[in-house]
Amino acid sequence: MGTWREQTPAVWETVVTPCDCCGQVVAKRLWIVEVDGGERRFCSPECEDLYREYVLPRKAADR
Ligand SMILES: [Zn+2]
Repeated sequence: MGTWREQTPAVWETVVTPCDCCGQVVAKRLWIVEVDGGERRFCSPECEDLYREYVLPRKAADR
C-alpha cells in the first residue's frame, strides 16, 4: 500500500516533516500512504498500523 520516499538533504534540512501518527520528526525517509484520499506521512509502516488502529477510529467518531 505505502511507499518509501527518500528526501534530499536540501529538503529535510529546511522542511520539518512530523510523522502523522507519533509526531516524531522524519528527516530522511518518509513512509507515504494514501488514507481517505489524502496523503499521510509516517516514520515507519508500524506507525501506519497504529494510525489506522487508533487515530482513524477516533477521527471517525468526531464526525
Ligand atoms: Zn511515527
